[in-house]
Amino acid sequence: MSNKSINLTEQLHAYLLYVSLREPDILKALRGETSSLPTANMQIAPEQGQLMALLVQLIGARKTIEVGVYTGYSALAVAMALPDNGQIIACDISEEYTSVARRYWLEAGVSQKIDLHLAPATETLGRLIDDGLASTFDFAFIDADKENYKAYFECCFQLIRSGGLIAVDNVLWDGAVIDAQKQDVDTQAIRAFNEYLLADSRVDISMVPIADGLTLARKK
Ligand code: SAM
Ligand code: CA
Repeated sequence: MSNKSINLTEQLHAYLLYVSLREPDILKALRGETSSLPTANMQIAPEQGQLMALLVQLIGARKTIEVGVYTGYSALAVAMALPDNGQIIACDISEEYTSVARRYWLEAGVSQKIDLHLAPATETLGRLIDDGLASTFDFAFIDADKENYKAYFECCFQLIRSGGLIAVDNVLWDGAVIDAQKQDVDTQAIRAFNEYLLADSRVDISMVPIADGLTLARKK
């Protein structure tokens, strides 16, 4: 028995999925279609989608934000967990990737819950703040360009209500965060972001070693 996070071998990971993953067919189909793309590793893991859906239900979220849509898996997992009057403000800059997302959202019957903004996410989030929507959202998921993580977090922090949750993806960055040889811009940005959040007393945090690492930050 270990009191450290267990090292998931291929077989143990397969077992985890076998005994816990309840992936709806529509999400499975989206994962299947995305797997043929050269960028497929940008998609979140299915067990992470299931965790995010559970978190959204636990906090009774209705209004949410997504920064980084890609082919729409995380937004779809969250949208399916939201109530009928739920809403996701979804931010991306790629017409190509999000055209796949739109197709699946429509097929799943959740497209009325998702408001896609094709523009740099800092602009979209800044506009929401300017429109007086600060402290009105329940949940945010940050998963776009790593260089802007701190800016996205600060915008989401303003937009989220007290008691709301911000989830930030790829915080372990395939282990590069502890590799001194890795000094590229993305790796440095994630290291800096992780340390920034550790020192941020405005939030309660937990770094969950699921998939590529997911930090949960609850606004006090
Ligand atoms: N959450 C997605 C999923 O579950 O499949 C994966 C998101 S993928 C890692 C990152 C996305 O961020 C890409 O679709 C990319 O087009 C988008 N992106 C990159 N720079 C951006 C920016 N400045 N503003 C908004 N989106 C951006
Ligand atoms: Ca990601």
